[in-house]
This record gives sequence, C-alpha cells and structure tokens, in this order.
Amino acid sequence: MIIIQQGDLVLTDRILTGDLLIDGDKIVAIDEHISVPEGAEVINAKGCYVFPGFIDPHTHFQMTNALASTADDFDSGTKAAILGGTTSIINFASPEEGSLCKGLEVHKERAAGHCSCDYKFHMELVEMNEDVAREIPQVVEAGVSSFKVYLAYGFRLTDREIYDAIEAIKPTGALVGAHCENGDLIDALVADKRKRGELDVSNHPLTRPAMIESEAIKRFSTIGAALEYPVHIVHVSSKEGIEEVIRERDLGHKVTCETCPQYLVLDESRYNLPDFEGVKYVMSPPLRTIQDQMALKDALVNGLFQTIGSDHCSFTFNDQKLKSRHDFTRIPGGIPGAEERGIVAYDVLVNQCNMSAVDFMKLVSENPAKLYGMYPKKGTLSIGSDGDITIVDKRIEHVLSKESAHTKADYIPYEGISVTGKVRDVILRGHHVVQDGSLLESYLGECIP
Ligand SMILES: [Zn+2]
Repeated sequence: MIIIQQGDLVLTDRILTGDLLIDGDKIVAIDEHISVPEGAEVINAKGCYVFPGFIDPHTHFQMTNALASTADDFDSGTKAAILGGTTSIINFASPEEGSLCKGLEVHKERAAGHCSCDYKFHMELVEMNEDVAREIPQVVEAGVSSFKVYLAYGFRLTDREIYDAIEAIKPTGALVGAHCENGDLIDALVADKRKRGELDVSNHPLTRPAMIESEAIKRFSTIGAALEYPVHIVHVSSKEGIEEVIRERDLGHKVTCETCPQYLVLDESRYNLPDFEGVKYVMSPPLRTIQDQMALKDALVNGLFQTIGSDHCSFTFNDQKLKSRHDFTRIPGGIPGAEERGIVAYDVLVNQCNMSAVDFMKLVSENPAKLYGMYPKKGTLSIGSDGDITIVDKRIEHVLSKESAHTKADYIPYEGISVTGKVRDVILRGHHVVQDGSLLESYLGECIP
C-alpha cells in the first residue's frame, strides 16, 4: 500500500488538498485525511500537484522509415517517458507485409518486457484494400482503439482511400486520426527547391507552409463529415490550422485535435542556426512563427485542443541528421520529447498562461484516456482507477538539458529552457517507480487492453 499525503490532488472538477491511498494496483481512497494503514509506504506531497499519470498519445519508439531507424527503442523511450511523468504511451504500429494483424503482433512482441510505462498502439493505415478493411475490426478486437492515416509522405492515402478507411472503421467506433499536410503540394515545392539547388535546412519549412496544413485539415474533416464520423487531427502546428478546425466545427463537423510542446516553445528561427544546428529541428509539420505559438497557446487556454502529444521520433544529431545537412530532404524528420512533454506543457500553460491545473490535467491525462478508450482505468484520480500517479513539485526551477535526459538521441530540442515544476515521483499501477527523479524499477509496463 502507498499513501500520498497532503498533496494538491488534481481531480476532474477541482483541486483537493488531501491524501490518496493505493492498495495493490488501484486507487482505493481519496480524502482530506486518511489514517495511515499499517505497513503502508508514506509519500509526502506537500507543495506538489498530484496528477493522474500523464498519457502521451503520440510516440514513435523503435520505428524504421525509408531514411533511418529511431534512436529510441521501447526500452529507452519508455524510460524517458516515465521519468517525465508519463505512465502510458500510445505508440504507432505499422502493418507488416500488408497485414494489420501481423503488424500489431510484431509491435506487441517488440514492446513486451521492454517497457517501463504502460502502452497501447495506434494502427497506421498505409494502403487501403479489402484485406485491410477486413482486418480493421480484428485489430480493434485485439485492443487497437485508433487508426492513423497520412495525407503526406509516400505512403499517404488518396481521398477515396481515406473515405473507404473511415467507412470500414465506422462500425468499430474507433478513432481516426490524420497527419494533415498536402503531400502532392509538398512534393511539388520540394522538386522546385531541388531544381534550384536550394537544399540547405532553412528550406525545409518553406516546402511545408501553414496553408498546406490547413488545406489538409479541411479535406480530412470533409471526408469525415461525408460519412458523419468524427475525425482527429494530430500535431496541429499553425494559426491557419486552428482557424480551419474552428471553421469545420462551425459547420457542425466533429473534429478533435492535438498539438505538441515543440510548437509552443520553439520557432522557425531554429532552422537558421549556425553550424547546421538547424537539422536538429527537422520535423513535420515544421516549427512555425511566434504568432503561431501565440495562437496555439490561446487556443489551448480556450479549450480548442483535446490533447498534447510529444510526437517523440528521435534521431541522433551527429550520426543521423548531420549526415544529410546539405540536403534537407534526406534528413530523418522528428525530435525526442517524451520526457519533456509534460513539464514543458505544464510550464507554458499553468505557469505562463495561468491555465488551471485541472484543465492542464485534462489535456495530458483525462482527454487522451477518454479518446483512446482507457477511461476511467486511466486518466483520473478516482476510486477503482489504476494507481498511476505523477507528482509534480511546483517549486523547483530547473534547466532542461541533454545531460539529465534519457533519450538515446544525442540532444534534446529543449536544451537550455528553464521551467518551474519538476516531476518528482511516479507511481505505475501501485509501484513506486520514480523517486526524486530517479528510476527505481524498470520494465513494469504492460500492454493496455
Ligand atoms: Zn508523429
């Protein structure tokens, strides 16, 4: 048994300064004062927020694409995640040999026994045909509660294929998410840059302007609306993207969306850093302007977004990214960030934007649990819920650095950023796995059914 004493417990509708008791793997009591049961471990949480464990709905651990394999596998990725207060991740799984079922099996096998936080999978749809349609309900039966389609990259689906995918998913009730950027236009802009020989990294954001995101959001939402089915937009990065989501909602279309901390604290000036440092920030969508950052923060405060994902997709600066510094189209895209996601978002939203801890908790915990079918097992401090707890000491100011980070990449994008608030203790289903910022127990992560 573990008793957490006198923390500011972040409940679904209020903060309660009090105690929380975990017996076995479940929360069994929440009250202003709970008497300490014999033999219970006591954790003093005075001056700390006690959150339901954070959920990161967007990680790419142990992924190989056409350019490279990610620096982080499930082992290092989930250690970074849990040290950052994330007790559950939803990682992307891709089909194997055209089969969704086989793809899910392979990803489950890779993760089993190597994860230090709980995990679940989104299934990527990279082609659409009768076999895929037939397997959609089968992988839902096997625990998948969300699918992802791409409107960019070589494996993007056509509008008709997305329509067919949503039609096949609809009877299962699973979520359909999309990477919204117009792939054909990106290809055209990249070809133009190549023709001109303009291939240094500062050209990366110019081939993926915000209108390319907003157009794809509009198109994907329209396809969902044609089937009267809700859609979810991952990593919305721009003011234009937000405005499109608002327009779609005004039309009565059901659209939920996610953004990421990198779009709140980093901007496009990073692509012009000296010594090819800009390659560290190659990701899609790219970093935007300060105006976009402000629009995203406003939208978060106003409740436009449902979730905040890290989009952790890590590659090393020295070995993997720098190699292609003279041709931005060959630089593997993505950044590490699973460890920093929670606290960067906390610092921006709670400290800088005066968001309530309750509203912040919904973005990083409750809403993803609800969207991805894990609620109320995950995502809430409630009796009977899993004993997944993240304790944030509000008083500690610290500077984010690769020195203290756990990604296997050789940098973090948030280097040198100062935040107030530190993930001090983490409990995973009743196991005290992080104490004073150190990992006590690894590999206790389980696949979330
Ligand atoms: Zn992603």
